[in-house]
Amino acid sequence: MASSGPPGRCTAHPVTVGEFKEYIGSKRGIVLDIDETLSWTAGKWLKEAFEKFGNPEGLTERQFFEKYHLVQNAPKDLYPRWHAKDVVDWMNFMRMSPEMQLGIELVEGAKEGVAALHEHTSIVGYMTARPQCMNRGTYKWLRSHGFPDVPVMAKPDEVPFQEGNRWKAQALKFLEANVTAIVDDNPKVALFCDETGYAGPVFQIGQTCASGAHGIACATWSDVVREVKQWAKGAQKKI
Ligand SMILES: [Mg+2]
Repeated sequence: MASSGPPGRCTAHPVTVGEFKEYIGSKRGIVLDIDETLSWTAGKWLKEAFEKFGNPEGLTERQFFEKYHLVQNAPKDLYPRWHAKDVVDWMNFMRMSPEMQLGIELVEGAKEGVAALHEHTSIVGYMTARPQCMNRGTYKWLRSHGFPDVPVMAKPDEVPFQEGNRWKAQALKFLEANVTAIVDDNPKVALFCDETGYAGPVFQIGQTCASGAHGIACATWSDVVREVKQWAKGAQKKI
């Protein structure tokens, strides 16, 4: 592992989507999102936010997540403090901070689910809206939990955070000869895939309603494993 160079270039793996395409050659397989697919990142953010900026409704992290999903979705009328400029600045700063990657817990069933997927499909990479500058911490977290040692395609630092799901759908379209499917919690990914024309399935972990033409709702990791197995069987080959 290289110890110097640009922040994202911390392993022998490719960093950009273009580099990944060259690296993977003719191989095919699925990619995995990270936040809220493998890592319970929202839980860490909400714990920090409750401690620093208050918890006006007295919710647990899980209750907040089920109600509003992410920290930035806290309604302004109930959470005015969370929308103050210094708090928004704090969030923007922490999105680029390795400190926020420490102690993130696993999504329930993710470790076992990925191990089960690996028996039926090829997992060729991760695709995350985290910025590339966070890669060092991302690899460290993935390895600490024994996830497959495959490349992390992270959002280029210059792409705004709000454009992360659109960037993913564009990257999937660019890689469609290699990337046969994605597991991702965010319903917007499948919607943007409809726009870019990526036609592989989007296995939507944590969702009970599918979105987009190719979204497949999977409430839990057990559902992901069942749906991917069924899809792989349909393809009648190891993918
Ligand atoms: Mg996610």
